Amino acid sequence: MSRFLNNALISLDAYTPGEQPRDKAYIKLNTNESPYPPSPETVKAISSAEVSDLNLYPDPTCKELKKALAERYSLNENQVFVSNGSDDILNFAFLAFAGKGGKAYFPDISYGFYEVFCELHGVTANKIPLKQDFSICVDDYFNKSGMVVIANPNAPTGLCLSLEEIKSILDNNSDQVVVIDEAYVDFGGQSAVSLIENYENLLVVETFSKSRSMAGARLGFALGNKELIEDLEKIKYSTNPYSINRLTLIAGVSAIKSDSYYMENCEKIIKTRDFVTKELKNQGFVVLPSSANFIFAKKDGIEGKKLYEALKENGVLVRHFNKERISDFIRITIGTDAEMQSFLQIIKKICEEEIK
Ligand SMILES: *Cc1c(COP(=O)(O)O)cnc(C)c1O
Repeated sequence: MSRFLNNALISLDAYTPGEQPRDKAYIKLNTNESPYPPSPETVKAISSAEVSDLNLYPDPTCKELKKALAERYSLNENQVFVSNGSDDILNFAFLAFAGKGGKAYFPDISYGFYEVFCELHGVTANKIPLKQDFSICVDDYFNKSGMVVIANPNAPTGLCLSLEEIKSILDNNSDQVVVIDEAYVDFGGQSAVSLIENYENLLVVETFSKSRSMAGARLGFALGNKELIEDLEKIKYSTNPYSINRLTLIAGVSAIKSDSYYMENCEKIIKTRDFVTKELKNQGFVVLPSSANFIFAKKDGIEGKKLYEALKENGVLVRHFNKERISDFIRITIGTDAEMQSFLQIIKKICEEEIK
């Protein structure tokens, strides 16, 4: 740290992303990426013409991409916001709808970035404990005096709320923005997008990083009523109007055009997830019921950290959170069938050796 850093940021505890090691080839099940490549159309769209135009700025209005997303979600273009990853959008939302001196409410166990954005913007973080079984008690989110943020499905638990439950949270917070982070919704959750027409306080945040195989392109979008979107645009135009590069814009449009390719991949991942869940349970693991592209699992008698380390030694990367209530668990991203077969064999061997 330099002696010049703004006082307000000295204690800021930045988000720690999952490892992206370069030392050797791992079976990489630690950052919830898709194991499948982008669609052939997407790959083709980028490798041609656009690269030679990189000397020119991209379209700051992202017109084509907004149009494609608006059609896909049956909304108007002015109900769509796009930016450089959904983390960027969440950052904007904390700034726009909470801000310095404001408050935000979210579960004690959820996406780690929410807390970081609170610290960054001087927002008071109110962390509401999940129930013993890691589910969300919706009544705890009624009549809050600040922005409510819920990942649905939640991360890293994979559990989800029903549309009725989301609706009740919206009904009971009519003067607050409710952000539903749907990073994993395409893997079996119920999307709140259909509620947008009736709830001016709803902002749904989505990403191309998980279900659309484009974590490396950095592309996220938010859907909500036109005024909320205008607020986000205002922040975008006050920070980085060209936040989405040319190649990513093209990739995004093409990904929406090959939507069925991506949604079929989600179906495959769901099938693999259900298979792995069953197998792990047969091995004596406790596995939370997941609606995401990862599972959260633990086995009595083996610490999560130990399991994580042993898996890494054996060439498998998963995620472990050294955090109260969940330190016994590991989060396992669902890979291809072949990757998961290897994973199941390796984890079985590790557990047998541990217990001996
Ligand atoms: C992965 C993830 C994001 C971030 O996605 P990007 O679009 O890659 O920035 C946001 N929210 C949750 C809950 C996530 O797991």
